[in-house]
Amino acid sequence: MKKITIAEMAKHNGETIKLGAWIANKRSSGKIAFLQLRDGSGFVQGVVVKAEVGDDLFATAKGLTQETSVYVTGEVKGDERSAFGYELAVTGIEVIHEAKDFPITPKEHGTEFLMDNRHLWLRSRKQHAIMKIRNEIIRSTYEFFNDNGFVKVDPPILTGSSPEGTSELFATKYFDEDAYLSQSGQLYMEAAAMALGKVFSFGPTFRAEKSKTRRHLIEFWMIEPEMAFIEHAESLEVQEQYVSYIVQSVLKNCKLELERLDRDVSKLEKIKAPFPRVSYDDAIKWLNDNGFDDIKWGEDFGAPHETALAESYDMPIFITHYPIGIKPFYMQPHPERDDVVLCADMIAPEGYGEIIGGSERIHDYELMKQRIQEHNLDEDAYAWYLDLSKYGSVPHSGFGLGLERTVAWISGVEHIRESIPFPRLLNRLYP
Ligand code: ATP
Ligand code: MG
Ligand code: MG
Ligand code: MG
Repeated sequence: MKKITIAEMAKHNGETIKLGAWIANKRSSGKIAFLQLRDGSGFVQGVVVKAEVGDDLFATAKGLTQETSVYVTGEVKGDERSAFGYELAVTGIEVIHEAKDFPITPKEHGTEFLMDNRHLWLRSRKQHAIMKIRNEIIRSTYEFFNDNGFVKVDPPILTGSSPEGTSELFATKYFDEDAYLSQSGQLYMEAAAMALGKVFSFGPTFRAEKSKTRRHLIEFWMIEPEMAFIEHAESLEVQEQYVSYIVQSVLKNCKLELERLDRDVSKLEKIKAPFPRVSYDDAIKWLNDNGFDDIKWGEDFGAPHETALAESYDMPIFITHYPIGIKPFYMQPHPERDDVVLCADMIAPEGYGEIIGGSERIHDYELMKQRIQEHNLDEDAYAWYLDLSKYGSVPHSGFGLGLERTVAWISGVEHIRESIPFPRLLNRLYP
């Protein structure tokens, strides 16, 4: 008898097979038991009919507790009533390990309890669906960039200098030197782009975010493409094509997961390039005209501003040309204005906020040096970075997409903590 996974059942319709599985849930009457089986690859209903399997096997089925691990044998049957499309007519059960008093029962639990039990909570249908969607976003990210001639490059995680200022840095020791955990691989990716043309990275980044929001993690994963000979407007086109691509990939390959999450897919189906562009100037004006008197030109948006700005669109939007004073030192100034830079943030619809920050980078040596001085950065630490604009400098652009924000948006989950297996939050380092 063949041992298969639940995901492979469609290829074995009508056959008798063996599955390794856990009991996710169980309902039974005097004559029939319904076992919700999960094996990591998916979920399927196992049906045990007393009249067919006999008293002993039926008693075993009825006694199965939540999260008990089993080998089950049975016949794969097409079942139009279930979203999955198949069920298992069980003919044998072998208990591997009996689980007693699994803490996460089908009833409602509080968030802190679930977070304390994150290692077990991951087994739930909802968390399973989110992790599968996360995986599909990562898979389609690699596919998109590989298909478009990008090379994957891995920047270091332990660094001596950092682009984003010092307030949110995690400091550590590197033998006798001070070191920091990476907040962004960007500067290294710029160096890589000068060597390999179009590059992308995918790795963890760390920010000591002191405020609790539903959008910020302490440890999160970023996708950071960087492109030589690509100017600001061209970079926006790559960004909208990339985000459209991952949304369409999830729609195509995660139908069951989106359904399990009750995601309104009609909202995702609309996500196709091009995305609207709104200037920072217009965004401020719109906010001030619409009752937001808590922000003026020169200030960065907060979550309520981003949510309001994106609200009237059913697409992610770009907010472009932010004031030079609220953006990092390396952004290329606007050719006709010295008060704004060639940058854009991509704001997701449905209140999920900024998912991408990107810009064209300065490629003039003197200007870069001047900006480093103006920002009071340590020139010695940036000497290697200045070399990039010294030897064959070219216009180049790049961006960073936060994976967990994107997972939260596409999955439609309220809080970013559910979009990563083991979230690191202000007050949470365990499990
Ligand atoms: P925000 O304004 O929301 O704090 P940011 O402008 O500080 O974000 P960037 O430095 O532009 O963020 O980083 C690029 C992307 O990384 C952001 O667009 C977002 O998707 C993601 N990101 C930034 N900070 C966090 C965080 N603490 N947790 C999760 N994702 C984050
Ligand atoms: Mg921030
Ligand atoms: Mg921001
Ligand atoms: Mg940003």
